[in-house]
This record gives sequence, structure tokens and C-alpha cells, in this order.
Amino acid sequence: MFDKILIANRGEIACRVMETARALGVKTVAVYSDADREAKHVAMADEASHIGYGPAPADSYLLGDEIIATAVSDGAQAIHPGYGFLSENPDFVDAVEAAGLVFIGPSADAIRKMGLKDAAKALMEEAGVPVVPGYHGKNQDPEHLAGAAETIGYPVLIKAVAGGGGKGMRLVETPADFAEALKSAQSEATTAFGNPDVLIEKYIQQPRHIEVQVFGDGTKAVHLFERDCSLQRRHQKVIEEAPAPGMTEEMREAMGQAAVRAAEAIGYKGAGTVEFIVDGLDGLRTDRFWFMEMNTRLQVEHPVTEAVTGVDLVEWQLRVAAGEALPKQQHELSITGHAFEARLYAEDVPKGFLPATGALTHLTFPDNCRADSGVRAGDTISPWYDPMIAKVIVYGSTRAVALSRLSQALEQTQVAGTVTNLAFLGALAAHEGFAAGEVDTGLIARDLDQLVRTPEVKFEHKAAAGMQALGLTDPNWDAGFALWYDYSDLRRSVSLSYQGEVFEALVIVDGPDDQIWEFPGHPEVQICACKIAGHWVLSSDRLPSMAQSGNTITVFDGYGHQFEVIDPLDRASAAGGDMNVIEAPMPGLVKAVLVETGQTVSEGDRLAVLEAMKMEHSLLAARDGIVAEVLAKSGDQVEAGAALVRLEEADEA
Ligand code: ADP
Ligand code: ADP
Ligand code: MG
Repeated sequence: MFDKILIANRGEIACRVMETARALGVKTVAVYSDADREAKHVAMADEASHIGYGPAPADSYLLGDEIIATAVSDGAQAIHPGYGFLSENPDFVDAVEAAGLVFIGPSADAIRKMGLKDAAKALMEEAGVPVVPGYHGKNQDPEHLAGAAETIGYPVLIKAVAGGGGKGMRLVETPADFAEALKSAQSEATTAFGNPDVLIEKYIQQPRHIEVQVFGDGTKAVHLFERDCSLQRRHQKVIEEAPAPGMTEEMREAMGQAAVRAAEAIGYKGAGTVEFIVDGLDGLRTDRFWFMEMNTRLQVEHPVTEAVTGVDLVEWQLRVAAGEALPKQQHELSITGHAFEARLYAEDVPKGFLPATGALTHLTFPDNCRADSGVRAGDTISPWYDPMIAKVIVYGSTRAVALSRLSQALEQTQVAGTVTNLAFLGALAAHEGFAAGEVDTGLIARDLDQLVRTPEVKFEHKAAAGMQALGLTDPNWDAGFALWYDYSDLRRSVSLSYQGEVFEALVIVDGPDDQIWEFPGHPEVQICACKIAGHWVLSSDRLPSMAQSGNTITVFDGYGHQFEVIDPLDRASAAGGDMNVIEAPMPGLVKAVLVETGQTVSEGDRLAVLEAMKMEHSLLAARDGIVAEVLAKSGDQVEAGAALVRLEEADEA
């Protein structure tokens, strides 16, 4: 086994790898960018080295040569790449080995063979692995591709051969839309991957995404069964589980063998995943699954496999990379129980899943789950990297038990300081079709309205926030009062805002353990707060737990409601919003400014494009007008709230 390894990654996965390394007595070296000086993975490591010259991945975590030099000078013998960043970069693997270090993962050759979807499909066909019917040849002539689509039969999927993360992919329903879709897929592929080439595939109706975890020693491979990742939004996984609902022994055997064939065909070493698309229209059938791609790294959702197999996949990675044989043979591997993983993100779901940033003033997870996280309370979700806060993983003896544990764990997860997708995950966990195991990749899109419904704020939540704001939950809040004080005279009020709306909460204190809360404008509402056996009860429920940071109070019920305490002197500034100034909604990179000074625009026109957190966001005119000033240019890195474009009325000009 190694004495010391370097982890060329950050966040959740860097911390995950360190945990196992520590358990095996292996020392760890972290690397960190300018933005990550105080990050959890730096604190966890035995040693840490600053790299690069800026927070952007291209200036830090993607600097392979600098990372290798750090590993050498810090005396590490091997590099674990995590996922993302350099993990599937064969040139990096070559460079690591040229420096005399071990790359904890497959060979450069294996990564190259699976790197492009077209070549991978051709190779898999040869190895006897079923692939999605389609065209994956070299001819990229638009006419030819359109012809191929006709032959395959609509609907078809255009995919960037270099694609990943759902980018460069277009569904085409009819021949009339083909040319346009091809163009946009190629342009997205060029921007994202520097390679415009595409392949055409039959679009599977009601598809399920079922993938098989494989593990190789360079010659032989075993599989660690399947994961179902059908719960996706825009081709990005949201909740994953193992095993797949409705899986039969026969199907598992067929898929497992196909995955092992795929891995052995490229001499695979280490942990990898073979992704299949499955036509689930009438149950799982052995002639209805096809190879999609192989991810030649540890996968984000590996913990669900660990939960049902009892295998620590990172331990296997380290042992096999250190030259040991595969820790188990196929017949020694089995599954017990069921596991789910939910990806908790800092994002604003009602605003179209807009990635968010923020300082996490409070962050706790319940005991009944495994929470893999790269952040702690006090840490910041920066605009530079993936806004994932944590992966919440649960295990149960059956799928139903595991699912109810998932619901419970999500309800009891407390995050303050940023918006999150917790309520969305909770709604998914409560979805009837999901509970029945009727999963396919279209589920989320079909029921989106129902799933993104914002949890309702109750008057109890408002009263709780009021109690917190006035310090009335403090057990000694009345210590200063003398006995003669007549409580029935004690009234107080506080102004709070909830999602931009200001309201007033009034309390009549009837005694040290009794309060009545009222809300001007809602005479029908009275919330009684009383202390029973040492605990505050509001109406009939326990006072929810709360966190306060400055003027922000978060009430942890219904996935968290955030209130602001309004300083009475400052109330005027609580309202407002200037329709004339188009601001960056989050920190990001200005990709394009689409208007010039003097140009007339209408409400809803696209004024600029901002790239933040791996997504492009269009910034629209809030009203008709004339562009008075353009305050940013393409290539600018801007802060949240930065003014980008100023408009004026036609007659102001
Ligand atoms: P996986 O299959 O392991 O879940 P995906 O296929 O969803 O990963 O994504 C491909 C790669 O992109 C992964 O290496 C993952 O780290 C990265 N990735 C996925 N989603 C995001 C995101 N929202 N932001 C940044 N990186 C991401
Ligand atoms: P990426 O490299 O971006 O992860 P994949 O080829 O793995 O691309 O596909 C991503 C997702 O797109 C799959 O998980 C599935 O939901 C959907 N998908 C891919 N191929 C097909 C297909 N032929 N028919 C229907 N859906 C598909
Ligand atoms: Mg994929």
C-alpha cells in the first residue's frame, strides 16, 4: 500500500477519498486553489499545497503539470483524480506515469478508447455488447447525417461524440427540425468540448438509465451490480438507487456480463461504470438494454453501491492501484437491502434551478443517513465550482424502508445561508410513481409543476421567526422583569420579511410560558405559544428549530423558511428593484453582450449572456426602452449585483 497519495480534486470527493485513505493509514496531500484556502478538504488532509494562479478550474485544478510537480516534491507516490477535472484525461495519466507516479485509475489507453462516444460504440459492438441502434461513423456531412436519421427512424437523438453532462445533445422528433437541431448541438459541442462531431441514435421512448459498476485489475473484471439513475433533470442525475426497481436475476446477469465484457475488452483497471439505456416500456427485458457510454472513473453515485454491497470502492481503488489483486471474485459479491442517494445542491428551484452561492451559516444532517459533503457550516458555496452541498445517502432493508428513510433524512437536513433543492428532493421522495418504482428519465419533466411547488409558509413559521427575532425563545428572556410586572400589558411587535414581502407580527405575552401571536390584516389568525414540560409548542406542534445569522432567521420546517428581520429605520430599502438596471443575478463570466448603446429593446429581449456554475443564463430586459449604457463586456468576470446594462425610457433619451 502507498504511504502517501495526492488528491487532485476538491469538495465532497476529495474528502471522501481522504476518509478511506486515513482508514488505511495512507497520508494525504490536498491541493487547493485561491478560492479554497479555507476549504474542508484542505483542513482534512495531512498536508496541503496551493496550486495555480486563480480560482477558475483552468487556472488551478486542471493544471496537471503543476499538480504532478507538487506530488513529486511532497513525496506522494500516487495521485487520485476524484471525478470531473483531470479524472478522464489520458494525457494527464501519461504525464503522471512519466513522472514515476501511479495514477489511481485506468490506463491512458483505456480512457482514450472510451473517450469518444462514437469510437466507444464501435468497440463495444465488436466486443458483443449491445449498443443503441444508430449512426456513429466518421461522415459528418449534414445531408448524410439527416439521411442516417431517416434510416434509423424518428425520433432520434443527436449526441456530441465528446459529450458529457448532457451537453451537446438534442432530441429531434421530425425531419423538419433536424438541420436546426444539428447546428445547435454542434455549436454547443464546439464550445463545451472543442469538438463538433456528433453521432445519431434511436431515441428510446420511456427510457431508464441503468448502469453497472465494474472493477478491473487490468485483465479481469468483476461487476458490483447495478444502479438506477433514471431520476434525471435535463440529463443530469438527481436521485440514484441500487438495486434497480423491478430488476430480475436474468436481466442483472445479462447486464452484468455485458458490462464485464466491456471492461475486459479495454483491459480496464480500477473502478468504472458502464451506462446502459433500457427500454422500460414493458418491464425489464434482456433484449432491451443497450450500451450508452463508459465512465472511466469513480462515479458521483458510487455510495449506493457501497451501501448494498458492503464494499468500500475507494479502498478497492487504492489496493488495486498499489498492485494488489481484486479483493473479491464475482461469486463472493452480493447485494443486501436497498440504498438511495439524493444530490443536495445550492440552487433556486422555482427560478428554473438557477445555481446559487452563499455562506452556509448553518448546516447539519441527521444521524440516520450518510452525508458526503465537502462543506461545513461557515463555508461558502463559491461561483467557481459545482454548487453541490452534499450527497444524502440512506440504506434500508427494503426499497420502501430506504425511501421513507430518505424522506425523513431530507426533512431533517438543515441548511441556512443559501437556497437549496431540498424541497424538490423531498417532493421527489414523496412522488407516488417513484414510490411504486415506476421510474423513467422523463418522470421529473412530466411532473415538474407538482415537484417544484414551494412549500407553504404557515403563520406558525412566522410566529416562530417572531419569537426568535424578539429573543422570546431564550429561556431567560424575562429574567430582567420583576415579579410585579403585569404580563397582560406586555405587547411587542416585529417587522419581518419573507420572500421580499414585509409583514408585522404582534405578540401579547400572557406570562413566562404563554404568548399569543397576531398578524395585522389577518384578524382570523391567532397562534398560541406555550411552554409545556420545558418545550415551546406553537398551536399543537413543537416549536421548530431555528438558526439565526445577523438579521436572517431560518425556521427548519418544510425544508427551511428564511425570514429577514427588518430594522424599522431601514424599511424603505426593503422594497424596490430598479427595472432600468440589468444586474448579474450571481457571480459569473459575461459570455456575450447582445445590445449596443442607443439600441431600442422590448421587454423580454435578451441583453446579455452570463455563464455561471457551468450553465449559461440569458439576462432579459425587464421592460421596453433604449439602451443607455453598456457596463460590461464579453469576458468580464462580474460579482452578483453588478450592473451590466442600463436602460432608459424612449423619451428620456
Ligand atoms: P456521474 O455520471 O458520475 O453522476 P455525470 O455524468 O452526471 O456524473 O457528470 C459527468 C461529470 O461532470 C462528473 O465527473 C461530475 O463530476 C461532473 N458534474 C456533474 N454535474 C455537475 C455540475 N452540476 N457541476 C459541475 N460538475 C458536474
Ligand atoms: P452524457 O455523456 O452527457 O452523460 P449519455 O450518453 O450518458 O450522455 O446520456 C445522458 C442521458 O441522456 C442518459 O442518462 C439518458 O437519460 C439520456 N439518453 C441518452 N441516450 C438516449 C437515447 N438513445 N434515448 C433516450 N434517452 C437517451
Ligand atoms: Mg452519461
